Amino acid sequence: MSSDLRRVTALTLDLDDTLWPVRPTLAAAEQVLARWLREHAPATAGGMPPAAMLALRAEVAAEHPHWGHDLSAIRLETIRRALRRHGDDPALAELAFEAFFEARHAVTLYDDVLPGLERLASRYRLVAVSNGNAELHRVGLARFFAGSVSARLHGVAKPDPSIFRAACAVAGATPAQVLHLGDDLDADVAGALAAGLHAGWICRPDGAHASADPLAGAHRFADLVAVALALGA
Ligand SMILES: [Mg+2]
Repeated sequence: MSSDLRRVTALTLDLDDTLWPVRPTLAAAEQVLARWLREHAPATAGGMPPAAMLALRAEVAAEHPHWGHDLSAIRLETIRRALRRHGDDPALAELAFEAFFEARHAVTLYDDVLPGLERLASRYRLVAVSNGNAELHRVGLARFFAGSVSARLHGVAKPDPSIFRAACAVAGATPAQVLHLGDDLDADVAGALAAGLHAGWICRPDGAHASADPLAGAHRFADLVAVALALGA
């Protein structure tokens, strides 16, 4: 094991694009939402093609900058406004959002994730740190984690150092005892290093950034099983 990782007692992990690919998940969830609206609010469905829904979402986000990190609130208000605009019952928004939200959790884990988490969780406390709105129990991974910190509940998103420190507190460890794992060089790697954590860049061979170099001071891992091997877990 690399000597700087010997003091590590806990790991914090990003979720989207670290444990599962998020783009196909969100695309499928958008389709579920569109289908739900066609069934229950046809006027809205007819009047809101994907591009219009996207534009409305940008409008809602711009009007509520304090929701910047609360994707669920933005999504819910977007649906509510679309329903109202097309004469459907805005009270349907909650049910429509729930259809989307359930589909957003129908993720396909990367192949290394279950064996990797199994090994890592047997040796380290694991805490999820996400800027997205995925919930561990909904994706069936809660059993591996001691807790989670989301930008939505914390109020500030990665790469802000405070969300990493909050995650360390949940893990019961100092930043120097924590290795953060994530796919994003800015939000995860630079953010974790700036907060005093160790950083591991999860860069699967077929990933978008496979040829880039990690930041100085960061470790680079092909997947979670490679992390477990490097840590001797
Ligand atoms: Mg990510």
